[in-house]
Amino acid sequence: MIKIVKKIVHLESLLSDVRSVKKKISLVPTMGNLHKGHLSLVEKAKKISDYVVVTIFVNPTQFVEGEDFANYPRTLDSDINLLSELDVDLLFVPEVIELYPTNDNTPTIEISNPELESIHCGKYRPGHFKGVATIVSKLFSIVQPNIALFGEKDYQQLLIIRSLVKNLLLPIEVVSAPTIREDSGLAMSSRNTYLSKSEFRQAPKLYKCIKETIKMIRNGDKDYEQLEKEANIFLEQAGFKVEYYSICDSKTLAPAGDDDAIVLVAAWLGKTRLIDNARVHTYD
Ligand code: AMP
Repeated sequence: MIKIVKKIVHLESLLSDVRSVKKKISLVPTMGNLHKGHLSLVEKAKKISDYVVVTIFVNPTQFVEGEDFANYPRTLDSDINLLSELDVDLLFVPEVIELYPTNDNTPTIEISNPELESIHCGKYRPGHFKGVATIVSKLFSIVQPNIALFGEKDYQQLLIIRSLVKNLLLPIEVVSAPTIREDSGLAMSSRNTYLSKSEFRQAPKLYKCIKETIKMIRNGDKDYEQLEKEANIFLEQAGFKVEYYSICDSKTLAPAGDDDAIVLVAAWLGKTRLIDNARVHTYD
């Protein structure tokens, strides 16, 4: 039976019991409105650990001014049902005040990765990754998991978290899982609920475009700048407003060289911001 807790003290007391019997704890942080992408992380967590903790927290500090914090879809009841069906051990659903206490004068600390947070999504969402790294650090110190799972869908976020764990010398194994898609190819996302019916039909073109770029590269095309330009034109003609479309190195996210490249994209379709990516050589 899933245990649901809102307070850090309760979470810590449950987890210290779990730790005392040497169970391997995994953590799946989410913002809720769960879909098959989130659930695939939970399923993987169940396979590789003994005790699965899921968190649902719409983290205010990772929303940039003017973004959808207030309207972000909150569907706790159905999320609880889905997690119960998967037999998750513990769900942590804190209030904002619990993770960002403001009742004393302790100066605040933010976790930052200046290099990775200033490019791609970070350039268009200044402060976003600082908010992500900060909340994930807090969750790591509260839960102290052995394993933490993140989706490759948010690839830049995944790299930032890997670097955070490395830099802070945390004894946590970061495990990633592939992007789960609709049959149309559209990457599942909580924000897809913002798409109108016609936008939902249009949105798979984003992934179609990535696949086309990958096909060209695999066929020997090395003019990445030109490929990026063509992709921009294709997407703009399909009704997207492209923020960036980059073929980059999958480790550094700098412009790609010859090996292990990844195609990363962020584009608006109407009022919905979509992101997606695929690795050039491992994609099938
Ligand atoms: P979110 O609730 O959007 O913050 O996402 C929580 C976790 O689920 C993050 O690690 C995401 O990368 C992951 N995730 C979101 N969408 C997908 C997807 N379509 N496939 C796999 N993982 C996903």
